[in-house]
Amino acid sequence: MGRKPKVIRICPRCGQRISALAKQKVGDRVYLYAQHYLGTDENGRRIIKKCYLGPLDGYVYVTKMHSDIGLTLRAMADKRRLLEYITTLLNTLLVKDVDEETLEEVLETLTEYTDKLRDKLERMKELPAK
Ligand SMILES: [Zn+2]
Repeated sequence: MGRKPKVIRICPRCGQRISALAKQKVGDRVYLYAQHYLGTDENGRRIIKKCYLGPLDGYVYVTKMHSDIGLTLRAMADKRRLLEYITTLLNTLLVKDVDEETLEEVLETLTEYTDKLRDKLERMKELPAK
């Protein structure tokens, strides 16, 4: 809470570079839009495409929504979502056609990270919480 959203310059909606960000207040909520300058029209006015990014508070925007792999990145401020993302990704690997090589790489990476995470957890248990 009270943390400023970290904005990355690629639109999570359309994948284009964000030219500017715009906030719009509706009632007591603030919504965020990405603006894409698409050049100028015949009268020299800027053509701007707007993409709705969601309510401002509590959101951390990430590079892209990975909808093609069944994952929509949401508010990372919500730590529980991390587990949801990981589970979704793993489930995608189970149900989608993935080649042998990729699967082997994924398993290797998972094993590596399982060890790293276990080490981290052990260190956390050894050290008193700060
Ligand atoms: Zn966009």
